[in-house]
Amino acid sequence: MAIKDLVNPHIRDLAPYEPGKPMETLERELGIASSVKLASNENPIGPSPKAIEALRSRLDEVNRYPDGACFELRTRLSQKLGVSERQLVFGCGGDEILELWMKTFVAPGDEVIMPWPSFAMYPIVVKGMGGKVVDVPLREDFSHDLDGMLDAITERTKVIFICNPNNPTGTSIGAKEFETFVDRLPRDIVLAVDEAYYEFVRREDFPRSIEMFDKRPEMLVLRTFSKIYGLAGLRIGYGIGSEETIGYLERARHPFNVNRLAEFAALAALDDDEHVKKTLEINSSGIDYLTRELTALGVEVLPTDTNFLLAKGGANIYDELLRRGVIVRPMAGFGLPEHVRISIGLPEENERLVNALREFA
Ligand SMILES: *Cc1c(COP(=O)(O)O)cnc(C)c1O
Repeated sequence: MAIKDLVNPHIRDLAPYEPGKPMETLERELGIASSVKLASNENPIGPSPKAIEALRSRLDEVNRYPDGACFELRTRLSQKLGVSERQLVFGCGGDEILELWMKTFVAPGDEVIMPWPSFAMYPIVVKGMGGKVVDVPLREDFSHDLDGMLDAITERTKVIFICNPNNPTGTSIGAKEFETFVDRLPRDIVLAVDEAYYEFVRREDFPRSIEMFDKRPEMLVLRTFSKIYGLAGLRIGYGIGSEETIGYLERARHPFNVNRLAEFAALAALDDDEHVKKTLEINSSGIDYLTRELTALGVEVLPTDTNFLLAKGGANIYDELLRRGVIVRPMAGFGLPEHVRISIGLPEENERLVNALREFA
């Protein structure tokens, strides 16, 4: 028997993940030096200095297994968020939380509704469990089509994903619209709300999802230390839910899924108000600068509640930027060949992008 016949069909049919080329390889291939990477929504100012300090002081403990409960981080985060300690589950990045959600709730054949374009991990984690992806296109203005998502519900629907704010569009759902949606959503469907960019949101009427578990216990919320806290390389994120749902996620979780260094770096970053404030300032002024300059160059920019923006600059925009050493995220794979997603960088990185655009836009 061939190995491929032994493999679970839903795994065999997955497309392998293609990682981006390392910057050094790209630079060599393109014959350029000092490229700037505005492609992965990383924090451009780096990790919190307090997190770096915590990492240094903890290095000689890595012979020890981590605290499987993340006790210290759990305690601090529960105070900060105003939820109980048993309403939190930690993961190896928010990505693992997505996977835990699917592992806990999705069986082969179950349908999972998601907006599209949205986070590329959703179809991967759904198909990885043998679930069926039901994607509902965003509306013309790139907002979630919440009515369309409700219309897509069938007897097999198990989970509905909401990405708020949405990656890769930066669009967000306001409190009123969200609450109406939650009220209309049948209670036998799990509502999975991805708030990876929560801390960057600028609109004032953003939903307070984590205050709604009493009303909607079948809801899961995800946040991460990868974005605002600048710890993407350490891999730590968390889920928030009712105590009951979190209890089930905890059963599905591997005991040492968060590494020892990540826990203590996250704990330090969480209270580094100065780093968060600086990140938000750089991000806000970067959004304003890029929106102004790109619009002036005839490149359409979508308003954003995140640390990136979606820009429509013509079919060549990705290649032309790349040739000039500016790496952004192409959107052709989402059926948007004229768009790119641009992560907000440091002022000098944003200027590099604008200067590159001036040469061809
Ligand atoms: C970055 C991101 C995540 C989680 O990323 P991790 O690095 O795994 O924490 C989840 N959802 C969206 C939409 C993201 O952009």
